[in-house]
Order: sequence, then structure tokens, then C-alpha cells
Amino acid sequence: MTQRVTRSGRGVLALVPTEPLHRAPAERVQFCGHCGRQPEDATDSRVCRSCGLGLLLETTTEAVPAEGGAFLVIDSTMAVCGVSAAAEELLATRETEAVNHHLTELLVPADAEAQGPTNLAVAVTWAARGDGEIRRTFVRPAKTFGVRLKARIASCNSPDAALIVLD
Ligand SMILES: [Zn+2]
Repeated sequence: MTQRVTRSGRGVLALVPTEPLHRAPAERVQFCGHCGRQPEDATDSRVCRSCGLGLLLETTTEAVPAEGGAFLVIDSTMAVCGVSAAAEELLATRETEAVNHHLTELLVPADAEAQGPTNLAVAVTWAARGDGEIRRTFVRPAKTFGVRLKARIASCNSPDAALIVLD
């Protein structure tokens, strides 16, 4: 597996001035697509040893979700590839039902003024191309109004996909 060095997120820094200005080249880490846990040591296994359910995915240390975090994995056609256990609960879905459906069946951009300058579809598309930036925007569950979630969108994995971490 080749290590990719991401460009420093200048666009992100401009939007989020509290981020440190100097960051080391991003290291890549593995995490479970179901429970979000990072394997304790290097493993050849493709499946998480902790929950036994999720496939191990890979992203940068900056983008990796917290253990037990809510996140989705989306491909370049905006189709859902994975939904973490916490995101299943948050979005009232099951991964098995969500996979291969369009992202917007689960998550849509928050209303325009709440959304901020980052377009969800554009952010996902660029992340799925592996551009190495982390983008932040606001989204809401497709079936729920009045709920606003912070979304952090970054590249993930090979073949390239986008990781959407929900806070
Ligand atoms: Zn797991």
C-alpha cells in the first residue's frame, strides 16, 4: 500500500482558523467501518477483530472518526458503501438497507445559510477522487427537519471513496 501525503488543507484553514497552522504530512491509519475502532497493531486481516463485523478502512489521522463515531463511506457516484453502527442509529437506517442507495436518501445539505460555503456533493466528489483535503459542512438527515449535523468530509480507502464523519 502506498503512503499518500496530503496537501495541507489551505481552504480548510481559511474557514476554520482555530486549526493549527503547521501540520505534519498526514499519516494513514486503519479503522473499522462498523465500530470505528482502530486496530491496535498492524494486521493483515480485512475484518475488525474488535467487533468482528466491519471491514477495515483507511484514512488519515486527521480524518479518522472517533471510536464509536457516526460516519458513512460514499463512492464517487454518491452511492453509499458503508454506514457505521452509530450512523445507523443516528440516521435510523441499517447499513444493509442503505448500501448502493444515493447519499441524498440519507443525508442532504442543511438549509443554505446553515450549510456554509462547502457544497456537499462537490466535497464528496473531490474526496472520492482522493484529493486529500478535509472539508466541513452542515447536513441534515433526509427524513428529519430541524436537525443539523456537522459533517467532516475526507478521502478514504482504496479504491478511493469519501468518508463523511458526523458530529
Ligand atoms: Zn469493528
